[in-house]
Amino acid sequence: MKIDLSGKTALVTGSTAGIGKAIARGLAATGAEVVVNGRGQAKVDATIAEIAREVPGATVRGIAADVSTAAGCKALLAAVPDVDILVNNAGIFEPKPFFEIPDEDWSRFFDINVMSGVRLSRGYMQGMLKRNWGRIVFISSESGLNIPTEMIQYGMTKTAQLAISRGLAELTRGTAVTVNSVLPGPTMSEGVETFVKDLAKQNGQSVEEAASNFVKQHRPSSILQRFARTEEIANMVVYVCSKQASATNGAALRAEGGIVNTIA
Ligand code: NAD
Repeated sequence: MKIDLSGKTALVTGSTAGIGKAIARGLAATGAEVVVNGRGQAKVDATIAEIAREVPGATVRGIAADVSTAAGCKALLAAVPDVDILVNNAGIFEPKPFFEIPDEDWSRFFDINVMSGVRLSRGYMQGMLKRNWGRIVFISSESGLNIPTEMIQYGMTKTAQLAISRGLAELTRGTAVTVNSVLPGPTMSEGVETFVKDLAKQNGQSVEEAASNFVKQHRPSSILQRFARTEEIANMVVYVCSKQASATNGAALRAEGGIVNTIA
């Protein structure tokens, strides 16, 4: 199967690092014009240069905007009024015991992980429906199904994304627009690498030991038994953004190494 998205414009939020950057790179390799996004111009510029270097012939531009705010989403929509592919990837995670999570954290997590995707889908989806082609992908998590007790506030946002994604898919009935979510499991992104390095330091382990122990102790049902690489998640996202994925709509697609132990 050859995925060709030339002529399509794709926006990936939070794509200056981690899973988002791998998705931006993967989409650029299919010929799509990619818009990268992060909060700071310097990192956006560095990411554009990196992808241009790694993917010969890539068309990449970038917009610095904080998608956790209404103003940031408005600025993004003004700078890029139409896209064919929207990947709602920007998100944060932070382990904290439930009894110590203040109200502000619940709102902050909701704004960045949920409202960013709501606002941008509201801004872009009508254009997709009018043109009768489009892809919206929410990067949720297996934590939206198996709520992690060490970060219930995060799990809540990842379940909310699944609800929104499914609801929006219902609005595409009879069109060639699809809305799906992808559920990664533990993935070695920049954000997770920092977390694992801290863990290794705390426990006097090497980073590799800490990573391997984390999966075995905290995600024991993992069949993969290791962290995924960011490209492994990006491959699923690029596929669901492809023209070939036209019959996949309203789905919650797992790329979590088998952690969720159910058949359906
Ligand atoms: P990461 O921390 O490595 O990268 C996050 C990116 O988002 C960075 O580029 C950051 O600059 C950007 N970002 C953060 N807040 C932003 C904002 N307000 N506006 C614009 N950009 C912003 O994260 P990651 O691990 O690659 O996670 C990406 C997504 O994948 C998240 O939604 C996360 O919940 C999900 N996910 C990650 C894992 C994992 O193990 N890494 C597992 C399941 C789901």
